[in-house]
Amino acid sequence: MQKISRFHILPNRPSCKVCVRNGENPLKLGTAIAEARNIVIIGHHNPDGDAVGSAFALYRYLKNTGKSARVIFPNPCARNLTWMDCDRVTLDFMNHPEQTCKALQDCDLLFVLDFNRISRAEGMVPVLEGKEMKKIMIDHHLDPDWDNFDLAFSDTTVSSTCELLYNVFYAELDPSLIDAHVAECLYAGISTDTGSFSYSCAHKELFTTIADLIGKGLDTVKVHQAIFDNFSESRTRLLGCCLGERLVVNHRYRTAYMYLGNEDMKKYNYQSGDTEGIVNYGLSMAGIKFAAFFTQRDKRIRMSFRSKGDIDVNIFAKEHFNGGGHKNAAGGMSTESLEAVIRKFESLLPEFYEKSILPCLSPEERDA
Ligand code: 5GP
Ligand code: MN
Repeated sequence: MQKISRFHILPNRPSCKVCVRNGENPLKLGTAIAEARNIVIIGHHNPDGDAVGSAFALYRYLKNTGKSARVIFPNPCARNLTWMDCDRVTLDFMNHPEQTCKALQDCDLLFVLDFNRISRAEGMVPVLEGKEMKKIMIDHHLDPDWDNFDLAFSDTTVSSTCELLYNVFYAELDPSLIDAHVAECLYAGISTDTGSFSYSCAHKELFTTIADLIGKGLDTVKVHQAIFDNFSESRTRLLGCCLGERLVVNHRYRTAYMYLGNEDMKKYNYQSGDTEGIVNYGLSMAGIKFAAFFTQRDKRIRMSFRSKGDIDVNIFAKEHFNGGGHKNAAGGMSTESLEAVIRKFESLLPEFYEKSILPCLSPEERDA
């Protein structure tokens, strides 16, 4: 594969970097779609609202151009997000490994949405690396793996992959094909990745985008209710357990964390997506700048990190917990026990506080 790539920016969006592999015929998005025979769209493990929203916004857009596609996630998506899959085309690798591998073997154009390294596709990595297909990435996370894509759109300043996808539709494709369902899926990703418009959303372009989506048939109230007012009773009680019994607050280090062990997950009948958003409660306390959430998934520990202001949890997750993400929202993974992971986290706090939290506190906050 040709390794030298060329960068340019998306028209009218200087914050969006576009990387094209510098071959004989540099790939154009519209041409790649028009020429493709079998398109597959993949999202990341534990697909969140932005992964599912961007996948189905693109799926529906492609359908509106007359193209069909498959959507694949490494594991199932949460119950409150399945409404986006209106044609029931999702395959999850965890429950359907053979069908998934077959779909990937047949694919000649792959879209990688809301993540930026093929290596995060977990069990699908060997098939993806072993097969020649055009690979296109659209993502808003830090540090994309540029070399492994034929065409890559990366903007780390936007709220979400959905916001970026909207910009790509306008710059490179046909925005008249954005119908009400595309608009709803895009809004689902924007509203979940901004914590219902509480972070990563202080730029006016985002609200111009939403105004345009409303013009295309988006009902914001309907989408909000489908996503945020659709939890099971057991998920609500799981939240109660986290806040009442599994919350540790360390005011000295301006840090709060919660954890759930296998027993908790079983007791509250954990379903995919049930822990989404819970980490943010840590940051909802005055004075708390850094929040973490540890959940046991059989033999592995999943971690979520959140921070306020300039405190960088992406670096923290990358350096210590084999993860990454954004400055204010990142995740990680460990195969150690829950107790060992929490012990390691606590042992890292004094240094993280001195080097990363303290310099970001205002004089008033330091005295508080
Ligand atoms: P969450 O805590 O909601 O699962 O993830 C927060 C952000 O970090 C998301 O944008 C997610 O894609 C990213 N993220 C979560 N886990 C990992 C990981 O293990 N590696 C990397 N690179 N990013 C992650
Ligand atoms: Mn996202």
